[in-house]
Amino acid sequence: MQLTNRSEIVVNKKMTFMERLYLPAILSGLMITVKHLFKKRATIKYPEETRPVAAVYRGWHVLKRDEQGRENCTACGLCAVACPAEAITMTAAERKKGEEHLYREEKYAEVYEINMLRCIFCGLCEEACPKEAIFLTDRMVPSNYDRGGFIFGKDKLVEGTSPDTRIDISKRTNAHRKP
Ligand code: SF4
Ligand code: SF4
Repeated sequence: MQLTNRSEIVVNKKMTFMERLYLPAILSGLMITVKHLFKKRATIKYPEETRPVAAVYRGWHVLKRDEQGRENCTACGLCAVACPAEAITMTAAERKKGEEHLYREEKYAEVYEINMLRCIFCGLCEEACPKEAIFLTDRMVPSNYDRGGFIFGKDKLVEGTSPDTRIDISKRTNAHRKP
């Protein structure tokens, strides 16, 4: 029974002398390789070269500080609840006397970790945060041979206090706030 009309009859025809030499096939293969040598490369030499990314690119998170350098995060846990990948864990602590310059509110995250191997960069943590504390940025998460190196703690997430270590998130927030 014939199911389609695309069947082909197989013929065991003898190869010609040129076909047996394989030269035309090798030369045509070489021609294809040579043609590709002069084409524009589709790849880039990352990490030396990087591609421009969109203003709303969702990359490596940042935990923001306020204008006085105090951590915005109050360890409310909403980001962890919103995270579909269960990538966020934290331990809350109470601000002690004399720490008012470090933490904006009475409660803060003593430990805050994101498992970058689980994160799917959906941005729901950012949307859930009521304190404008967590944002995704245009920075790429660097590669690592060590799986443990992908558990990003506060040392990798909280921005610095000096102006050159602050992470600019204005492009991302402006893109979100466009009418
Ligand atoms: S970007 Fe998405 S997956 Fe990653 S930590 Fe935030 S909520 Fe979780
Ligand atoms: S980052 Fe935002 S949502 Fe997450 S614990 Fe801190 S304040 Fe709450």
